[in-house]
Amino acid sequence: MQVLKGKTVCGGIATGYIRIYEKENAIEKRIICDIDNEILRFHKAKETAFIQLTEVARQTECEYGNIQAEIFEAQKMLLTDEAFLDAILEVITGQKVNAEYAVSVICEQFYDSFSKLEEEYFRARAIDIKDISDRLLSILCNTEIKMLSAASAIIMAYQLTPSQVMGFAEKKPAGIVTENDSVHSHTAIVAKTMNIPMITGIKIKKEWNGKQVVVDTESGNVLIEPDKQTITKYQNNMQCEQEKRKQLEKYRGVETINKYGKKINLYANIGDTSDVESAIRNDAEGIGLLRSEFLYLQAKDYPKEETLFFHYKKVVESMKQKRVVIRTIDIGADKQADYFELEQETNPAMGYRAIRICLTKEEVFKTQLRAILRASVYGNVDVMFPMITSVWEIRKIKEILRNVKKELDVEKVAYGHVKIGIMIETPAAVIISDLLAGEVDFFSIGTNDLTQYTLAVDRQNPKLDAFYDSRHEAVLRMIHMTVENAHKAGITVGICGELASDLTLTDTFMEFGIDDLSVLPTEILKVREKITK
Ligand code: PEP
Ligand code: MG
Repeated sequence: MQVLKGKTVCGGIATGYIRIYEKENAIEKRIICDIDNEILRFHKAKETAFIQLTEVARQTECEYGNIQAEIFEAQKMLLTDEAFLDAILEVITGQKVNAEYAVSVICEQFYDSFSKLEEEYFRARAIDIKDISDRLLSILCNTEIKMLSAASAIIMAYQLTPSQVMGFAEKKPAGIVTENDSVHSHTAIVAKTMNIPMITGIKIKKEWNGKQVVVDTESGNVLIEPDKQTITKYQNNMQCEQEKRKQLEKYRGVETINKYGKKINLYANIGDTSDVESAIRNDAEGIGLLRSEFLYLQAKDYPKEETLFFHYKKVVESMKQKRVVIRTIDIGADKQADYFELEQETNPAMGYRAIRICLTKEEVFKTQLRAILRASVYGNVDVMFPMITSVWEIRKIKEILRNVKKELDVEKVAYGHVKIGIMIETPAAVIISDLLAGEVDFFSIGTNDLTQYTLAVDRQNPKLDAFYDSRHEAVLRMIHMTVENAHKAGITVGICGELASDLTLTDTFMEFGIDDLSVLPTEILKVREKITK
């Protein structure tokens, strides 16, 4: 057994089999002379995939029942579908290319056409095609894994982007280990929102693929090829963790009132629409931060107003009449979407990002605002703007918002009353928070960026993790000053950065008079316990 020390990104224990993450575009196109052999390779891979799926279906049926197992039966059917198989064989023979390339091209084509279909059933099949594609490619590329289901995979990679981690949502792995990610990056935040135990700072070796592993985030250790005793020990620890979580159940439905008798609004931070289930499951009193950019990161082109509206409406309706704060897109820096065609920058964190993009790409901004306003009819929606530094930005935003409302009025499209808030995440915003407070209905302090900009520490740089200290006196004073200025102006103020769930600071925040805390869904009951105890 090999024990390697890294840095914990997201807590929890995970055991499983290593799957070295390969970028999809790593599939090369090669010209093949021996086409018969290539066809044979493909048929063998297909047969192996079929056998694996039979085993996965059997195991899933034992563990979760036959409804779940049917997913894999459906995938097996695809492996016998003549149109699908013929299309792959045609690419191999017609273009005289390698089987991997043919599989990836055809699967992508099938995926695209299925995912565009109206019916939910066929859209769900698109995911199956992706799954089949992954399986066939891992067999053909010899990166085959002993993994029987995604739930037992530990993904290992040099580095992952936030959207790559979001891509795991359909087949959530048991854990993630990377070589070079920052503990404070958006990748880390996505892993935490999805509640996937994650460690970074481990030198990944390709030959580990398929080996058994334990991810112990309490010690920051990754154990390669652990012995039986060690696995049993960790499995017991996992049970203890579950017990601890059960203890917190008694805080479900309890009002979050602090020792001063003040009601604190305890909200959830979510990224993807599907995270709303976790927010509800963990008894969130609302959504304090919907990181709306993640929908854009998963898209291949600017999302249409209807798509955005559909997603926002779903979140708003699921939360019934509870508050939902939608933050407009915070694209840029580490959150890149190709179709935005953002140029490479020397200093991306301080560059063309978030509200700066929205104020220069007004049509993109207006599309999002229209969708948010329309969704507000279905519940209690507020809108919030990131990376604000100046009063003129808010005035410009309000002007655009007024125009959008006028357009909706002309079109006789309904919208509700939406409060306007800003994120306080730059020192400039803190220092002029008295002025900004006169312009908006609420503040939400983004301590992740506020730490980065106050301490001049790039949150993306893993080498600086030790210097990135959100508990720094300078950050705490900034929070205090913001709260005081907000309250003087009669508006509410919350914290939605990661610091909101730092239990060593909960009392300090209560003393400051903070009104709302917005945390990861899985942190809600812990924070409620701390506030109400
Ligand atoms: C923050 O900066 O604290 C915040 C909540 O925004 P993000 O982490 O998405 O930048
Ligand atoms: Mg931020």
